[in-house]
Amino acid sequence: MAEEIYFDNNATTRVLPEVFETMRPFFTEFYGNPSSIHRFGSQVRQSIDEARSQVAALIGAADPLEVIFTSCGTEGNNAAIRALIESKPEKRHLVTTRVEHPAVLGLCQHLEKKGYRVTWLGVDQDGMLDLDELREALTEDTALVSVMHANNETGVIFPIERIGQIVKEKGIAFHVDAVQIAGKRPLNTKRTPIDLLTISGHKFHGPKGVGALYARRGVALPAFIIGGHQERNRRAGTENVPGIIGMGKAAEIALRSCVANSEHVRKLRDQLETGLLQACPDSRVNGQRHDRLPNTLNISFKYLEGESVLVLLDQYGICASTGSACTAGSSEPSHVLRAMGVPAEWLQGAVRFSLSELNTEEEVRFVNQKVPLIVERLRGLSALGKLANQQPAKADANRTTDSLAARG
Ligand code: PLP
Repeated sequence: MAEEIYFDNNATTRVLPEVFETMRPFFTEFYGNPSSIHRFGSQVRQSIDEARSQVAALIGAADPLEVIFTSCGTEGNNAAIRALIESKPEKRHLVTTRVEHPAVLGLCQHLEKKGYRVTWLGVDQDGMLDLDELREALTEDTALVSVMHANNETGVIFPIERIGQIVKEKGIAFHVDAVQIAGKRPLNTKRTPIDLLTISGHKFHGPKGVGALYARRGVALPAFIIGGHQERNRRAGTENVPGIIGMGKAAEIALRSCVANSEHVRKLRDQLETGLLQACPDSRVNGQRHDRLPNTLNISFKYLEGESVLVLLDQYGICASTGSACTAGSSEPSHVLRAMGVPAEWLQGAVRFSLSELNTEEEVRFVNQKVPLIVERLRGLSALGKLANQQPAKADANRTTDSLAARG
């Protein structure tokens, strides 16, 4: 078995060797500036165009020119929201959800301080949005709606097509943060009523430092980085050529293999989930189990601190996380789990395991052996934990091993 067991793929993924090999010559041989007129530059330009087509295919865009390369998902989200409000200066209302990634959440909080009115849509105990609440939130003054496709902490997938229909019926601009779902499931921006959509290369085995913003043809998108003429005047700055080439290759591979990979990953995730629920008394899954990313398991161990579990997991070489990598280091419990109304005794003990197709059954077996030992050991250190340790572990795995707190 490899030294590390990497179950933190929603934070970032390993660059596939094929992706790396495709990038390599763009550091050493084809280092021309794609904006240069000479052949050394125009060769590189052609490779960027190819990568643009690969990314367009991954998200089902009608035209590769709808893809604008960025530096990451955070940039794409910021650019989309800022550009949409800039293009409609008379409108002062935004709609988003309470469970967005900090890249959207933080920006909308910032805009709220600047005088925009923000409607924060809530979620139920399963992490699902109420579409009636969305309908009621939309007004003449609404500049845009921004909703994530899949949640990075729980894996819960929102019905983006239905949300898009509701938003577009009112003629409002619709942005989707698809950072977690891109590469895990084929997307079809051509057919889905979406105006702008964000993805990030490092979430699907591409390199870090590159992302893409899809902008449907005809959507008014002012320049979000001003300078040269790159990206058809919308995102100035010399392109991250190796990054773009790598993201293109990763997109091509993901498009080819994501359906088969999903099945493999879902099986592993389900084995992990069943094993942990069976072996750890007082454990529960956070987030609905259907319409969930196949690689993600968010599980709470009652009365424990998720961070303590992570430290002991790390001693076995197991990498997981408590939530978004971007909120790591904050002692605040997850805003996603709070929005779902997860009770206090379960809130701190959440751990997110996020797998990829590079993981194996052997790794899942190892984690299934070690986690119950860690949970028992940590619970042995506190009075409440000792109580939980006395609970029998369940023979058959239900959603939670705690009957009272089932589903939050
Ligand atoms: N949106 C979601 C849903 C994410 O999970 C992340 C990263 O975890 C981001 C946006 C930010 O992406 P990046 O790390 O590329 O800035």
